[in-house]
Amino acid sequence: MKVAVYPGTFDPLTLGHVDIIRRGAHLVDKLVVGVTTNPSKEPMFSVAERLEMVRREIAEIPGNIDVVEFDSLLMEFAEEQGATAILRGLRAVADFEYEFQMAGMNQQLNDDIETVFLMADVSLQPIASKLVKEIARYGGSIDKFVPSAVAEDVRRHLGAGSR
Ligand code: ADP
Repeated sequence: MKVAVYPGTFDPLTLGHVDIIRRGAHLVDKLVVGVTTNPSKEPMFSVAERLEMVRREIAEIPGNIDVVEFDSLLMEFAEEQGATAILRGLRAVADFEYEFQMAGMNQQLNDDIETVFLMADVSLQPIASKLVKEIARYGGSIDKFVPSAVAEDVRRHLGAGSR
């Protein structure tokens, strides 16, 4: 069984992420979406909220998809999950250098696990969680960038005063 891990912070989950998950689930027998706790990024949503958000939004996507929290080294998590590939999404050139470096270092840690890059639908490529949060904080509409229930989650969060 071919297993791949798609790791990320998903703070919040965007339509770009959903598209990569859909494409990834097509490619492998099982896709494990790894949600990092990532406290260094001071996420807007707790890991429990992000897990619930991802699970809710991928419910309709065909394929065998697990959503799992992880707090360890990515390669250790991938090994634990029995994965032979790490899936990453590439947006603009700006992503390339960081992703290139990370893939290179991960290869040194475990050469049996391949990093695979996918591109989202062209219309979804500019979307980034960080910008979604910025737009929402200034009262802009994020409905084109995230699933509608996620837009509600973000608005509720900001309304609750967690700016
Ligand atoms: P991280 O904190 O690891 O960057 P993110 O949640 O921001 O996690 O993103 C997870 C993965 O999804 C990364 O590989 C990122 O490049 C990819 N990604 C995010 N947004 C998009 C998008 N709009 N199109 C394609 N890939 C994306």
